[in-house]
Amino acid sequence: MKSPFVCPPKLSLVTTALATLKELKWHKGVNMKCLDAAGSVGVSGLLWKKHVTDVDVCICDIRKNAYDLILQNSKLNKLSVEVENKDACEVLYKPVGFNFIHLETSRGVAMYFDAAFRNITDHGVVAITSTDDAAMQAVAPELALRHYGGVITKTMYQKELGIRLILSSMARAAAIYNKGIHPLCCAMNKSSLTVMVAVKKGACRADQSLGFLCKVLHCTVCQERVLCPDTQFCVESPSSLLSCRCASSSVGKVLKELGPVWSGELSHKGFLLAMSQQATKFPWSQAVGKVMVELLDEIECSSTRNKRRNSNQSNGTPAKIQKVDQEPEQSGNTDAERKFADDGTTEGGKCTVELEYDESPPPAFYYNIHHHSPKSHPMRPLNTVVQLLRQAGFRACRTPLDSLSVRTSATLKQLQEVLLKSYA
Ligand SMILES: [Zn+2]
Repeated sequence: MKSPFVCPPKLSLVTTALATLKELKWHKGVNMKCLDAAGSVGVSGLLWKKHVTDVDVCICDIRKNAYDLILQNSKLNKLSVEVENKDACEVLYKPVGFNFIHLETSRGVAMYFDAAFRNITDHGVVAITSTDDAAMQAVAPELALRHYGGVITKTMYQKELGIRLILSSMARAAAIYNKGIHPLCCAMNKSSLTVMVAVKKGACRADQSLGFLCKVLHCTVCQERVLCPDTQFCVESPSSLLSCRCASSSVGKVLKELGPVWSGELSHKGFLLAMSQQATKFPWSQAVGKVMVELLDEIECSSTRNKRRNSNQSNGTPAKIQKVDQEPEQSGNTDAERKFADDGTTEGGKCTVELEYDESPPPAFYYNIHHHSPKSHPMRPLNTVVQLLRQAGFRACRTPLDSLSVRTSATLKQLQEVLLKSYA
């Protein structure tokens, strides 16, 4: 810890999010109680203590050598944190509630969901970091079913399907304790996934977030997919929901029902804006800033023609962050803060920030251009495909989840029509 230290992206994201919560006065007037159940050498928890003011940090790891290392690191860095030589569940099932819980374990995060969502306070935030998760790759669908309670299969939109599966599992774990979730930020870095959700108490909150769970109808022939309508009644001729006609033209069964998965938004725009502003204060501003620009582009998923992604990402601060940065530093002066201030009311020193759902969330899932381009013609560059779709009146953008894919409001049939027309 004393040598020059490069913060891994997943940890800088979580630390930036925590600093953002403090900045937005998420928990007004009280020290935020934070649990780092990632343990190992305690980097995450020590970073919070070092970079975020007014936080009480508890770091736990059941392994004795890890526990000793965390103690040693906190002493070396002169940071006062509570260190527990216990399993995260042992700490979480105590009556003391945490406002912020970060889970990262080698045993899979799902087995901590019950403890975490039971423990988390009203308006708390649960963050998970998951590496090489079974749900993210379809190599072990039975493991995904066991851990997250949903069916997956190998698809061209695997990563997003995995994220949505994990979110559905979190929503159900929270609902048991009459709590609802609202995703704040989902980001993927190589094989490591970070998911952060805000938790609100109340049976109606739980019902609301359960309302976002639905099945996915997937065509195994052409990879077309659709979120099934939110209804308890059976869908008559489900194949009519898809834009392809593989079900009627193929021999045997070709449609699969996947999920249930989370169908709502994956990130909250206002929170991402606040996070990108907060990131500028940290040594890792460039790395987190880049992630935020990509996520904000994706959440917007514009239909405006000729709107290009920021081309100055590699040299200097991204444009969107600069814009926020240039504004004079007054509280409630940025879009994000205004949004939160409008939504929230402060009662008795306790902040009750209201998170609204986006009225036009980006379309779910994406199409891999390499796979879906007409084989008779040379493949179009991805940026060209995005422009073609926008010119045809659809929402379209790239996705950080797959560098060869386009997220769009067009169906697969419409995408292929747009592509074919462009060669004419
Ligand atoms: Zn099909």
